[in-house]
Amino acid sequence: AKEGGRNQVMLYETGMQSEIVRRLAMERDLRDAIEQEQLQMYIQPQVDRFGKPVGGELLMRWQHPQRGMVSPAIFIPLAEESGMIIRLGDWVLRQGCMAVCALQAAGIPMSVSINVSPKQFRQADFVDKVKIALVDTGADPALLILEVTEGLLIDNLHDTIARMLELTALGIRFSIDDFGTGYSSFSYLKRLPLYELKIDKSFVQDTPQDANGTAIVQSILSMAQHLGLRVVAEGVETRAQAEFLIENGCHSMQGFLFARPLPLQDWVTQQTA
Ligand code: C2E
Ligand code: CA
Ligand code: CA
Ligand code: CA
Repeated sequence: AKEGGRNQVMLYETGMQSEIVRRLAMERDLRDAIEQEQLQMYIQPQVDRFGKPVGGELLMRWQHPQRGMVSPAIFIPLAEESGMIIRLGDWVLRQGCMAVCALQAAGIPMSVSINVSPKQFRQADFVDKVKIALVDTGADPALLILEVTEGLLIDNLHDTIARMLELTALGIRFSIDDFGTGYSSFSYLKRLPLYELKIDKSFVQDTPQDANGTAIVQSILSMAQHLGLRVVAEGVETRAQAEFLIENGCHSMQGFLFARPLPLQDWVTQQTA
């Protein structure tokens, strides 16, 4: 029994060690990724009930020289823990502004949504960075939407609101991403300067067959309507989901049914062809 115990500890340590080594390697690689231009912005369109693209979300892609395409679901959490998200976030902000300009130059009338992690948003100079990115690129702030998560609202709600108001004054709009999956107090909804709620795909994918999922999506839509907020549904994969969402007053939809995320330039080419 004693030996077994020791083996267990060793296995645990070995497991820990390889996990740490793996993380360190990825962290180091991520550091190089920006300079070596391994990161790319993809866009996934959001369409209205007629199927017309009205906006698009920028999603990061990392083409690793050895590992191939690394999912942001893996490297974003790592970047958040290591603090690297700040540099990635700076880059994304600039890419977002550049995308606004590129779409406008191509005559494609679409807003651009970017994901902003809580750490990035809480930086003391975040508002300044946004201002500088807007001035440097000449992007129209009215076309930029920042997607933030409910995690941002857990603490320092007062500071968060103040900062959101500063950015709103510039013309920028806010969307609550993955709505319904996080901090679940509805009281903040009327206190925040919000433009939009983004229904998480886990709820969308339960419609229309699952009674609970259907009820959740309907409640979000009716609450948003009363609060004067727009709603985007993410992860729309089937015609039945789209029909359900449209019937219940959802403003726009994003998902594989309409388009997979694709390189921004490909989207521009496709829209202007
Ligand atoms: P998210 O913001 O919730 O983005 C939506 C995710 O759902 C994307 O995954 C998208 O490709 C995927 N998706 C879109 N349509 C469908 C569909 O119809 N069905 C299904 N099953 N999935 C769909 P992706 O691109 O792998 O990104 C994963 C997460 O990584 C994002 O989730 C976001 O939290 C984070 N992320 C991506 N890019 C950035 C970024 O530039 N900055 C930050 N901070 N986070 C990012
Ligand atoms: Ca998002
Ligand atoms: Ca989302
Ligand atoms: Ca999500």
